This record gives sequence, structure tokens and C-alpha cells, in this order.
Amino acid sequence: MINTVTGPVSSEDLGFTLMHEHVMVSASGMYRSYPDLLGPNREERAVARLKEAKAAGIDTFVDATTFDLGRDPELLRTVSQRSGVQIVNVTGWWLDVPRFIRNVSPNQMAREFVRDITEGFRGTDIKAGVLKCAADFAGVTPELEIMNRAVARAHLETGVPVMVHSYPTGQVARRQIAIFKEEGVDLERVKIDHSNDTTDTEYLKWILDQGCFLGLDRYPGYLVSPHMRTVTMKSLIDDGYADRLCPAHDCICLHILNERADGTMPEEHALAVRNPDGYLYMHRHVIPELKAMGVGDDVIETLFVRNPQRFFAAA
Ligand SMILES: [Zn+2]
Repeated sequence: MINTVTGPVSSEDLGFTLMHEHVMVSASGMYRSYPDLLGPNREERAVARLKEAKAAGIDTFVDATTFDLGRDPELLRTVSQRSGVQIVNVTGWWLDVPRFIRNVSPNQMAREFVRDITEGFRGTDIKAGVLKCAADFAGVTPELEIMNRAVARAHLETGVPVMVHSYPTGQVARRQIAIFKEEGVDLERVKIDHSNDTTDTEYLKWILDQGCFLGLDRYPGYLVSPHMRTVTMKSLIDDGYADRLCPAHDCICLHILNERADGTMPEEHALAVRNPDGYLYMHRHVIPELKAMGVGDDVIETLFVRNPQRFFAAA
């Protein structure tokens, strides 16, 4: 069974699943302490976008918002209940490690993450269903290595799979995977995310050949054009890797809004202006382009239904 924010579901009930999205991204405690920074009608805006997603055929998404990205489990539960989209939330850590916890041990953090999975986020009965760790252009810094090892150990204890924020331009997954190997993690339970921020298929095939899933989870994204992301995905499909690719958007519905120089407030964050299709970009642009390139319905089903099922199902 997989923990969603509304309770456990079986992997057969996931349906069409986007494996890396966000309802809200801010900072720890922001949603409760300074919610107006996220703009007006927050819950209503999120519910409207997810209802639209559900109507388009999106049954489930993985919400990759960790504690340091501002996770609010009760917001996620409400939005899931009101929209009908099943949400699996993460525990673990993204990139923001506050100075006072930089010297905790991996085992200390692992115990906290295990509790999020087995008992629920503190003060709630909402349980995490995925683990996440991260490194970016600076590589796996000492404080991020603690989180990486903590996530590996929480995975070994609970069996919950791991998603990994990575930085393909710097081939940072080479170090992240080395740490998982040292910790004894089965790499078939690990997904290396943001991998379509490169077109370097030699590097991507190296990751796949380690056994990992690959998150092709930035659309439309910045570093690579949407078309070249899809060309790269098609090339990996043609090379026989369809059963380990997970396309998604890394779309964010609620974000901190920045006042303009003239004192007026924008209604939407720049990311939403850039991608007005939001969570539907895949259905409106990527899937049609894949089909035009000759990718059949069976492969589409593999990418969005069977791969998430296998990622979550115990090895
Ligand atoms: Zn993300």
C-alpha cells in the first residue's frame, strides 16, 4: 500500500500519475505564518487547478514539497479531497538546510523521516509516501550528504522509494548514486529527477544502467527546449528504456508573489505566466508530440501508469 495524504491506496489504484509536481512551494512554516505572501484565495486557486487536472485524466500526483520547501500536509489533504486528485507527499529534504541542524547525524534525521512515514507528519495523521533528497550545482555538500544518507537509511527501514533532486549539467547523480550504493540501497527503488535538463543521453543511459528510474520531470522547463526534452525522451524509449522513464512538469500552483516596482501585485507567478497549461502541459503538448513521433498508446500507458506502479511496489 502507498500512503497518500487521504490515506493508503494500492498501487493498482494510482491510475495516470505525474511523479513530480507541487501544489505549493515556499519555505518551512510560510503557509501558516505569512500566507498572504502566497497571494489571495490560495486554497481555491489550488483546488481549481487540480480539478482541471482531474478532469483531464490525471488521477494521482506526487507532491515533492519537503519541510524546507514549506510542506503543509493539511493544505494538501484539503486540496486532494476537494479536487479528487490523489496526492502522495514526500518526506526528506530539499536544498535548504538551516545552520542549526547542519551537524545532526544521518541516523537522527532518518528516525524523523521514518516517523513521517509510519506515524504521520507531527500533529496530523497524514503520512509521507515517498522519500526525497537533493543536491544541485554545488554538488553533494556535507550537510546535504547527511540528508542523502538519512533518506537512504529511512528507505531501508520502511521500503518507501526515493526521489532525488539532481543537477544533470554537473552529473551530480554520479555522487548521489555512489552514496546510495555505500548505504546498500537497491537502485531500482531510486528515481533521479530533473534529468531532462540535459540532452546528454550517454550520461542518462549510465544512470538507467545503474537500475534507477529517470524523472523527465521538467516541462516546459528552462535549460532545454520542450521539443528537445521530448526528442531526448523518444531516443531513450527507442533504446529500450521506456519502462524506467517518468515524465512530469515540476509545476507549482502556489508560489510567493513579488510586488512590482510600481507597487502593484501580479495575479500569477512568472512560472504560471510562462506555463499557462500548468499540470495539463503533458496532455496538451507532450503526449501529442510523442504520438506524432510514433510512440504508441501502450508506451504512454507504461510511462504514466505502469512505471509509477512499479516504482512504488516493493521490489
Ligand atoms: Zn520540484
